[in-house]
Amino acid sequence: MTDEMIYLDNNATTRVAPEVLDAMQPYLSKFFGNPSSAHALGREMKRAIEQSREQVANLIGAADTTEIVFTSCGSESDNWAIRGVLAAAPNKKHIVTTLVEHEAVRNLCRLLESEGYEVTWLGVDGNGELDLDSLRSALRADTALVSIMLANNETGVLFPIEEIGRIVREDSEAAFHVDGVQAVGKVPISLKNVDLFALSGHKLHAPQGIGALYIRKGISLSPMIIGGAQEQGRRAGTSAVPNIVGLGAACRLAREDNDHERIETMRNRLEDEILRSIPNARLNGIRDRSKRLPNTSNISFEYVDGQNILMHLDQAGICVSTGSACHSTTHESSPTLRAMNVPYTAAQGSIRFSLGRYNTEADIETTLSVLPEIIAKLAAMSPYEEELARLR
Ligand code: PLP
Repeated sequence: MTDEMIYLDNNATTRVAPEVLDAMQPYLSKFFGNPSSAHALGREMKRAIEQSREQVANLIGAADTTEIVFTSCGSESDNWAIRGVLAAAPNKKHIVTTLVEHEAVRNLCRLLESEGYEVTWLGVDGNGELDLDSLRSALRADTALVSIMLANNETGVLFPIEEIGRIVREDSEAAFHVDGVQAVGKVPISLKNVDLFALSGHKLHAPQGIGALYIRKGISLSPMIIGGAQEQGRRAGTSAVPNIVGLGAACRLAREDNDHERIETMRNRLEDEILRSIPNARLNGIRDRSKRLPNTSNISFEYVDGQNILMHLDQAGICVSTGSACHSTTHESSPTLRAMNVPYTAAQGSIRFSLGRYNTEADIETTLSVLPEIIAKLAAMSPYEEELARLR
């Protein structure tokens, strides 16, 4: 089934790269020891973990490998960063974040509100961009943490984290956590002015179930999982060595990869052609592509239903997503698009196309050959005849 499918949903998850699978294989068979064991098998597992730690550190530019701690996923990394900072600063009860964070940050901050924390929610403009002045004025003496993503999972809009981190440093004593899950492997990472940085393997061709948290040296972070002394005593639990090796291999691959331009060229062709040929198509997120991930296009097909578009594309063997995958079971419009003030009739028809290294030009041409017809068919069934006629 999967070989014939056109997979344009790489922000939801990615295929495990063959190189990653090859690197993992020995640790799923021959090398099965516990890295905490003192014997030769245990030592080999430990060596493999430390090699992966170095590969992760190299990709994101950490100064020291001890700043990288392996976790089970991006959500765990985000949760730990946030809760860990708050636990280490019990007298500070204020958090600053944005309305467009992934659920891993957004829902945790909502929960923290019910636990007595005060959260300042920064909004975005119609392009999905943050107003840095509002960040500046949100910072207070009791701000424990600022948590802001690098790349939005739905629109691909990038936030200027180096500048944000500079503001946080200049105007507060808060720690700065960055959810970098969607950015790693897609754009170069700079940790300048960043204290904590979350990433997740399955977004860059490693398997699901492995993540990491960068913790700048000197940042005080309480552990969240208590138990053995694994990960320098910071995160207990027997290490998932095959997955850790997979993440290391994926990071190495992302560094060596020269595919980024090809992916961006395909994305641009898809986006340009959709916007040119489909009258009710509009882009969500800033037009300036240097401020967006190179693989993502979020496009609304006004006055038609996104779920219907998704199903028609699925029947044609093309996998996309309506907004973020986490919303696929609900009919609420995406909080990101709501924060951007995208009208309901456009937000409901939004589709996220997210490309990856295994896409080909033929995938893009096939998508472009079927999509206009699908949209035209659904538009003909739409109750918004007059509005659609005006767009033609
Ligand atoms: N943060 C962002 C921006 C994401 O896109 C995701 C996953 O979609 C996560 C966090 C959560 O990562 P994980 O699926 O590894 O828990």
